[in-house]
Order: sequence, then structure tokens, then C-alpha cells
Amino acid sequence: MEKKIWANSGDSHFLEPGDLFQEIMPPALAERMPRSVKGDDGWETVYIDGESLRRPLPKPIRDGEFKGQTIETLSVRPPGAGDVAQRVKDLDQEGIWGEVTFPSLGMWANYIKDPELIREGTKALNDWAMSEIQHKAPKRLIATATLPLLDVQDTVAEVHRVAANGYYAVFIPTVPPPGRPTWNSEEWDPVWRAIEETGLILSIHIGTDGETVMYRGPGGAVLNFNETTYGGQRATAQLIAGGALDRYPNLRILVSEGGAAWAPFLGDRMNEAYRQHSMFVRPVLSMPPKEFIYRQVYVSFQHDETAVQTVLGMNYRNVMFGSDYPHLEGTYGHTQKTLHELFEGVDPAVRHRITVGAFLDLFPHIGEPPGNAA
Ligand code: MN
Repeated sequence: MEKKIWANSGDSHFLEPGDLFQEIMPPALAERMPRSVKGDDGWETVYIDGESLRRPLPKPIRDGEFKGQTIETLSVRPPGAGDVAQRVKDLDQEGIWGEVTFPSLGMWANYIKDPELIREGTKALNDWAMSEIQHKAPKRLIATATLPLLDVQDTVAEVHRVAANGYYAVFIPTVPPPGRPTWNSEEWDPVWRAIEETGLILSIHIGTDGETVMYRGPGGAVLNFNETTYGGQRATAQLIAGGALDRYPNLRILVSEGGAAWAPFLGDRMNEAYRQHSMFVRPVLSMPPKEFIYRQVYVSFQHDETAVQTVLGMNYRNVMFGSDYPHLEGTYGHTQKTLHELFEGVDPAVRHRITVGAFLDLFPHIGEPPGNAA
């Protein structure tokens, strides 16, 4: 039996009760908030403010071979998806110590068009997640606060409110709600300023751009999965090119689930544009775009074989593992196998940087996984 490699995880999800808002909000508002009904037919229906969306529930995958590697079977949703006590047992089994925990219902926030509804709904969700997720396992779980993004004053107020209530991170989707300016706009500056002032981490989870099915037909599954990746890169580019990471040098962002090697690559592309098209470029930045990525942008990956080389070969050190618990593209059930394959023969200091160190740059209170000292 190989020694367990303990890691902190920059990416996980908590499955709230499907009728959570009905329990924590006044009925007149609650009935317009997202409510998930999972059917026996393999589909989920989400009701939001008079509209409904249907999407297929993740299916178990079959045992199979891919490039000589066995694809692990996930026959059931991990037991701790919606239960903190069970979740911590799952994490212990997998060798995950601390983890960043994203909401599930909060991911639907961009579908709400009423500023009052989103303001009250995010408050209720954030209070619930603090008491029912983070407070239940404060040494392990970092809840991420969902922000109301329809009115900047509400956004700023909620940033200050959640910071005072014990949050370490806020969550924004890769795109703002419909009708709001993209993340490169100076209209968002009061939000970035508030996040920087409070010392919160700005976390962006990929796959939150809205439409999830862009392709049908041959290759659709792979093409649609790829599409979920690009939004994190676009959001990062917007925050740098628009000058936000320059104006707020202590603002640090975490792009979860989107892999690692894209970050230096994107930096090269941005530097080329910034240098070769300098006559068109505004705002002028205090340093080349790529340097903001190396200074302020952190990324998480699950299986990417290129992630280790991103640290070793490109000296981009803000790379952290993320198990994406309990999702299908995560490592539940085979986390140790994945970690041992990734780090076989790799300098222990580099392994430590990716499994622990980069995470602790952002969330030092979580600390070194005790299991690594044993
Ligand atoms: Mn994830």
C-alpha cells in the first residue's frame, strides 16, 4: 500500500436540498427562487422565477479503457454530496483535507432578473451555507458566497456582509447576468475594491456561462465539455486587460476546474497583443499582462497531465489540485490513484506546492494536512 498523498482541493460542490429556498425565505420570494426537482427519467427540472429549465442528470459511466488507463466507475453520487458529516468521511477516504466548496443552487443566480429577489435570495443562501457548511467543519470546508450582481451597490454590500460573517471567498460566474457589462468594465471597480479591502478571494468556477449544450451530433460530449472551459479564460483575460488586477494589486482570483496550462499560454497571447498592438491598447498597464497571471491568478485542475509541467517547465506556481467532489469529472473514488500517477518521480517540493502550498497562499487558515506529517 502506497503512502497516502493528502491534498487540499480548490474545487468542490455542495448539493443543497432541492427546496432550500422554500425553507429559508418568506413564501412570496421563495416561490420565485431556484428549485430543483430530480425526476425518475434521468432529467432534472429547475424552476426559477416563473421559468423552468430541463437538463439531463449526470449518468454513471461504464468501466472502460482509454489510452490504456482504466476509467473509474462512478455508480452512485458520493454520499457526502449534501451532508457535511458524511462528506468529511469521504474526504478522509480520498485524502482531501481542506476544500473550496461552491454552491449548486447559487450557480443558477444569473437566471434571476429582479434585483430585490437576487439580493434577498443570496443573503439567505449565504447565511445558510455559512451555518450549515462552513461552520459544521470550519477546519475543512470553505464556503463561497454567491453575490447579487444586478446592482453594484447590492454586490458591494453583500461582499462586506459575508466578510463580516466569516467568509473567505466569494463566487462569481464566468459571465455577468444578462444586461450587465462584462468583467473588464470599470463599473465593477467598487466590487473589486470591496473584495480586495476585505481580503476575500474572488473565485470563478468554469461552466457558469449559461448555455451548456452548444453542439449536437458527432463529438458533442467532448465539444460541450471543452466549451465549459473557455469561460474561465475569458473572465481572467477581462480582469487583466481591463486593468482590474492592476488597480487592485492585492485582489487574487481562483479559477476552479479549468485546468492549469492555459494560464501561461493565455499570458503569452495577451503579451503579444499588448506589445504588437500597443498603438491600440488601453488602458496601459503597469506591467505586461502575463505578469498579472503569475502574481494574482490561481487555477485548479483534476486530472491534467500538463499541470505538473506548468509548474516545472513554465514556472507558473499558482497551480492547485481540485477534486471537484462530487462531480463526474472529479476524482472521487480514485483521488489517490490520480495523485500517485501525477506525482510519480516528481520533486516532493513541486508536489507539495500543487497539493498544498498554492492553496495555502489563498487560505492559510486551513493549514498543512495533518496526514502528511504522519
Ligand atoms: Mn467544480
